[in-house]
Amino acid sequence: MDISLMRRIVIKVGTSTLTHDTGKLNIKRIERLIRVLSDLKNSGHEVILVTSGAIGVGVSRLGLAGRPEETRVKQAAAAVGQCELMALYNKLFMEYGHVTAQILMTRIITDRDNMRSNLTNTFDTLLSLGVIPIVNENDSVSVEEIECEDIAFGGNDKLSAIVADLIRADLLVLLSDIDGLYDHNPQQDPGARLIPVVYRVDDRIRACAGGAGSQLGTGGMVTKLEAAEIASAAGIDMIIMDGSDPARIYDIFEGKQIGTLFPAKKV
Ligand code: GLU
Repeated sequence: MDISLMRRIVIKVGTSTLTHDTGKLNIKRIERLIRVLSDLKNSGHEVILVTSGAIGVGVSRLGLAGRPEETRVKQAAAAVGQCELMALYNKLFMEYGHVTAQILMTRIITDRDNMRSNLTNTFDTLLSLGVIPIVNENDSVSVEEIECEDIAFGGNDKLSAIVADLIRADLLVLLSDIDGLYDHNPQQDPGARLIPVVYRVDDRIRACAGGAGSQLGTGGMVTKLEAAEIASAAGIDMIIMDGSDPARIYDIFEGKQIGTLFPAKKV
């Protein structure tokens, strides 16, 4: 991975990184994240943020007892939570002098050629204007993600890889609540070791993620590997790292080993 060539960067942040266990926003962490991203932008990178958290934050904002079962309530929560997230992102990026834009995506947009090229043009224009696009799935409109992951983006891990491919990003960083891919489930096996580099996502690697539907899978490693396959095939390096200390993103650009790197296939 040649850091000097990493100009266009997509950073994906998950709900668990953005919120406390109470479901409310982790303001301290979000402030640190936006500070780092603003600084990367100042240093000449193009930054695209893919954010989760709309449903989670909406649930908490509406004072609902827990994550609702009903699709329409999840969609209502997403509409509320997305506003709250954008309000905070916009305020924080503005403090550092940056302009943000919201892009809410549905699967149909990336599946249809004309819509896809419109979207690419919008991203390219925003980036050329120096704007930081903030992306999420349009959960209030696209029921698929909420109800059945197979026919939608399959969550924001895959969405972030699709966005990275669409805009020909150089690097995709997934900020997670775990510091990378382990050879065994680190919650169950104290001897589990972090895998620093994965050159190919094969069955052996998929087995490390625990397989679909496992504890680790629900923790998100399965969809992260799917994202890695999309990114790698598109010629984009991807890193999974712990998002609890956003300042560690600097380590990537200082050439330090961090998290698990999935080097791009040479295309
Ligand atoms: N789009 C969902 C939200 O903002 C998150 C999906 C995901 O985390 O994969 O709540």
